[in-house]
Amino acid sequence: MIDTDVVIIGAGPCGLFQVFELGLLGLKAEVVDSITQPGGQCAELYPDKPIYDIPAVPVCTGLELTDNLLKQIEPFKPGMNLGQEVTELTPQDDGSFLLRTHLDTEFRAKAVVIAGGVGSFQPRRIRVADADEYEDRTLHYRVRNPGQFAGQRLVICGGGDSALDWALELADSVAHLTLVHRRDEYRAVDASVAKLRALAASGQVDLLENTTVDSLQGSQGALEKVRVKRADGDIEEIHTDHMMVFFGLAPKLGPIANWGLELERKTLPVDTEKFETSQPGVYAVGDINTYPGKKKLILSGFHEAALAAFAIKQRLEPNKKVRVQYTTTSPLMHERLGLTEEDE
Ligand code: FAD
Repeated sequence: MIDTDVVIIGAGPCGLFQVFELGLLGLKAEVVDSITQPGGQCAELYPDKPIYDIPAVPVCTGLELTDNLLKQIEPFKPGMNLGQEVTELTPQDDGSFLLRTHLDTEFRAKAVVIAGGVGSFQPRRIRVADADEYEDRTLHYRVRNPGQFAGQRLVICGGGDSALDWALELADSVAHLTLVHRRDEYRAVDASVAKLRALAASGQVDLLENTTVDSLQGSQGALEKVRVKRADGDIEEIHTDHMMVFFGLAPKLGPIANWGLELERKTLPVDTEKFETSQPGVYAVGDINTYPGKKKLILSGFHEAALAAFAIKQRLEPNKKVRVQYTTTSPLMHERLGLTEEDE
């Protein structure tokens, strides 16, 4: 059980900036995100695209914004719990909250900020009949234990970095590897594509381009054959023990909808003073919240994070007035930012 002041659900730009605003007020945060990298939509959907409307940053990419936010929150040493979806949020009688992730990590927090964006990023599932029957047994959307594929026949579907990275990593250890891609151009980096083509040329990998999966065959969760359709309509059967599918990630509101919070069209209504949801002590910032005039922009989420931090500090210390202090001049702010006399 991890005890902390605040659990922040979501490591997108607003969740990361929330760490900073809480840190300035002396509050410790744990961040949880279902994907393994921080940055939310910026890192997942447009890492290399330029953003032009971050105040005082004329232009930066999604990845640069994320890296800068991570640097900015370094002094506050947040716990980063990535690759874990928060599945349970339960208010306690003493006003605190218990949270649990799908990997059974548990947190006790005095307050919670939901910075869940457009939802928790989930692998896109393959659309063929009975795919559910094989999922997590012989059909994989994530790789938890690469050793399990040693000496096995494997089909990997996809043309992005994940598909190619795993193909290159496992090519030596599996009994047989087939990569199935619906096009003959790849989203993966050029170096990986070149290595894959070299493995295909040497016969170590069967590369089926312009090919889609048509159906799966097997019994009781054990995959036996993958039937694929070539561009010319021909059907081929590949005998296999496992299949991995990497079709990218798509956001789903997911477990947030089950926590008894008032919802309005998949968003959480909040007030514009504290950014508190219908559950006292649970706040929402960034794309996940709604209020009159809401604009789903990063800069709006930054403002919301600042006010939510003040509200949380006031909730945790109801008898003290929470004052605004400038980072430029306040010795307390400097101490919390870990600045030395030389820095000042
Ligand atoms: P997100 O970035 O969506 O991050 C939320 C995170 O929460 C995700 O990583 C998700 O996995 C996680 N999460 C959700 N539920 C759970 C759960 N139960 N457990 C664990 N983790 C969970 N905005 C601008 O201001 N300027 C721009 O130029 C701009 N360009 C954009 C271009 C594109 C192509 C897109 C798609 C968006 C753009 N946006 C832009 C919008 C901007 O990216 C969003 O406003 C911003 O990412 C919202 O940040 P967030 O932190 O609220 O949520």
